[in-house]
Amino acid sequence: MKESSAIKESEERLQFLAHHDPLTKLPNRLLFSARLEHALQHAHRQNELVAVMFLDLDNFKQINDGLGHPVGDKVLQKVARRLSAIMRDEDTVARMGGDEFALVLGDISDSMGASQVASKVLSVFEAPLEIDHHRLYVTSTLGISLYPSDGENVATLLKNAHTAMYHAKEEGKNQFCFYTDDLNSEALEKLNLENDLREALNNDEFEVYYQPQYELSSGRLTGAEALIRWNHKELGLVPPDEFIPMAESNGLIIPIGRWIMKQACSQVKTWQEAGFDIDRIGVNVAGQQIQNSDIVETVKDVLKETKLEPACLELEITESFIMQQAEKAISTLEELRKIGVALAIDDFGTGYSSLSYLKRLPIDRLKIDRSFIKDIPYDSDGVAITKAIIALGKSMQLNVIAEGIETDEQHDFLTEKGCDEVQGYLYSRPLNAQEIEEIFQKEN
Ligand code: C2E
Ligand code: MG
Ligand code: MG
Repeated sequence: MKESSAIKESEERLQFLAHHDPLTKLPNRLLFSARLEHALQHAHRQNELVAVMFLDLDNFKQINDGLGHPVGDKVLQKVARRLSAIMRDEDTVARMGGDEFALVLGDISDSMGASQVASKVLSVFEAPLEIDHHRLYVTSTLGISLYPSDGENVATLLKNAHTAMYHAKEEGKNQFCFYTDDLNSEALEKLNLENDLREALNNDEFEVYYQPQYELSSGRLTGAEALIRWNHKELGLVPPDEFIPMAESNGLIIPIGRWIMKQACSQVKTWQEAGFDIDRIGVNVAGQQIQNSDIVETVKDVLKETKLEPACLELEITESFIMQQAEKAISTLEELRKIGVALAIDDFGTGYSSLSYLKRLPIDRLKIDRSFIKDIPYDSDGVAITKAIIALGKSMQLNVIAEGIETDEQHDFLTEKGCDEVQGYLYSRPLNAQEIEEIFQKEN
């Protein structure tokens, strides 16, 4: 008797483990599918609707990377508890993996009913999560698909809710979005683009453009920023803002980033050997390249292969990435610095650097973000921020470069405030290698 109840107990325990996520105790993907299947059968008989919601946390990765996995785990547990608390007993909240959750809501009368629940779900995130003395603001984005209009089976409904969630993320996060058929063709286009991106490196479709940088006091061309361009065989020129984020999310940024670094370094070496006067080349480095590749080895290899002086290579890393990484960033930057390359913080002013942190970073210069330069001298915030960054650079002995200069007024303002260098359409758009050579030839 005793033995059989022990067996029963361990059987139940096994059942539970097989169907629940150990961290949050919520149903897992398997149980979610079974519950959804059941809800669909029920709804079919009763002629009712079912809503499937796919939920993804917006800034979980930052928290997890920045504060560590134990804090990340607690975030997931608290979120799970808050979600469960607002659901009816007959509904299901499941953890699908990572920071993704999914909900099944049966007995829904119309899409209005689903939006009401979705709003309620978003409001769960309004109050900060208090974890280990941290107050964390976490938001989430939801995609919704409805049975039977958006799909008649588990797989389709889930896929479409997922597509809708992606769309809501693109539209700005912290919101929900219903699936529509248009979204699928959009997703398909994206998928095609992603497949093409995989081929682009082999097919030689990338090209490096160079935007000159000038010293304000002398007007001398001191360096250039390497900017990637993708010549897609059917679509023509695809801007980096469209494919760099994609390359970051699927890991292709690592081989692409290596390719552009090598290309740019070898180009500058060629220019220097031809007697052109250029001090350095700036190469953008995406967060992914630092996090998920051995960037230090890559830089060493590239310098060795191209024989470029380390000091002639400047890596541009965005402020927001450095801030997310905190301590880890410092040690990687220090290693890079040891090689002898220069380091610049790109898009400076947008990432909430703390001054004490900034002081510890082994950096050479700040690149003022274009958004502040844009409305100088008419926008008082832009003026104040730009002035403050230039002053900050001076006091910390960092070189300051402004980007996105388009007008004489901006040029005059920056000259007067003592900004060191500039880059922008006023002086030159990004150009291909041959066009840059023409500039050098004219200057000589
Ligand atoms: P970024 O690093 O901040 O680059 C500056 C962007 O500003 C470039 O856009 C440049 O063409 C543009 N720009 C320069 N002067 C002006 C101006 O006067 N007015 C205006 N309106 N724009 C100006 P681009 O080439 O489209 O690149 C956009 C972003 O894509 C870059 O921003 C960078 O974050 C990323 N990117 C480009 N190439 C690479 C790359 O090789 N690797 C990585 N990881 N990211 C890259
Ligand atoms: Mg840049
Ligand atoms: Mg920038």
